[in-house]
Amino acid sequence: MKPFTYERAGSPAEAAAAVARQPNAKFIAGGTNLLDLMKLEIEAPQHLVDVNHLGLDKIDATPEGGVRIGALVRNTDLASDERIRRDYGVLSRAIVAGASGQLRNKATTAGNLLQRTRCPYFYDTNQACNKRRPGSGCAAIGGYSRQLAVIGVSDACIATYPGDMAVAMRVLDASVEMINAAGAVRTIPIAGFHRLPGTTPHIENALAPGEMITAVTLPKPVGGQHFYHKVRDRASYAYALVSVAAIIQHDGSGHVAIGGIAPRPWRVETAEASMLQGSKAVAAQLLAGAKPTHDNAFKVPLVERTLGAVMAEARTA
Ligand SMILES: Cc1cc2nc3c(=O)[nH]c(=O)nc-3n(C[C@H](O)[C@H](O)[C@H](O)COP(=O)(O)OP(=O)(O)OC[C@H]3O[C@@H](n4cnc5c(N)ncnc54)[C@H](O)[C@@H]3O)c2cc1C
Ligand code: SF4
Repeated sequence: MKPFTYERAGSPAEAAAAVARQPNAKFIAGGTNLLDLMKLEIEAPQHLVDVNHLGLDKIDATPEGGVRIGALVRNTDLASDERIRRDYGVLSRAIVAGASGQLRNKATTAGNLLQRTRCPYFYDTNQACNKRRPGSGCAAIGGYSRQLAVIGVSDACIATYPGDMAVAMRVLDASVEMINAAGAVRTIPIAGFHRLPGTTPHIENALAPGEMITAVTLPKPVGGQHFYHKVRDRASYAYALVSVAAIIQHDGSGHVAIGGIAPRPWRVETAEASMLQGSKAVAAQLLAGAKPTHDNAFKVPLVERTLGAVMAEARTA
């Protein structure tokens, strides 16, 4: 690990200012992703700004009838919160499908949203990787790509967004709140938060340099049955090959987002108009334009089958 300096910020605006002031500074929350990347020297921040003691660890009701989840709420606390379990079950289920109990005790809402890809070539510093070293190429294209994305990809990068929590937040129409060094706060829909790779796969989200996430807001509950089905190589402690986050109403209508197949949680709102026609119709629209490789073509039918299983469970529940 490369040497770095460390400070504890006194407020969110101070934290944002501290990161904005130095070219190679980063926030640290639970550290479960960042410290691994630092040990492997995939990331080498010269300065860390600790955001753990800023009072951002609360879940509050909003005047609109939703909830505001502080950026530092631990994954375990979020998944077990009574309101989340009752009104946003898809979120609770997605979180407990991820990582392990120990990791979830440390991992935070903001850190989870910002976790980096698990593309094996990103982790191997001997390999070309446009995300790790812009302009160096992409060893995954033409390499072994079983885990990688089938849609939303570019000629520069075919990595997936690996997380579970954000897939549920996407189906819940969450918003991400951020603060910059000047103390200005802005909120954007999660739909626009994670970026597709295009020609700049190293730019993964809508945060400006130094901007810090302060909260994630969920709109008022929409009812329905909530599902998170995760298909993976092991029954626990493994990333999704395909995951389906769904909220299905009694009349069969609903919302669906897919994980494990794209550089961001994948949702196509127009596809949801076909819910009453069945999983084949929805999956066809969700995956229109997919560009699977030889190794990961199995993900295309797997999306349809997993969505079909969720819809069948909704009918019988
Ligand atoms: C073995 C293992 C298995 C895992 N399995 C899964 C899994 O199955 N599913 C899954 O979803 N996840 C999985 N994870 C990932 C895990 O969920 C993340 O490591 C965790 O959520 C990151 O949260 P953190 O608070 O520790 O983030 P950190 O490591 O502290 O930070 C991550 C990134 O976010 C930035 N950051 C943190 N807070 C803020 C903020 N407030 N504003 C702006 N930037 C910020 C940091 O600078 C850093 O770039 C796994 C991790 C491990 C190690
Ligand atoms: S797919 Fe993306 S993360 Fe993986 S090697 Fe290519 S550029 Fe890097």
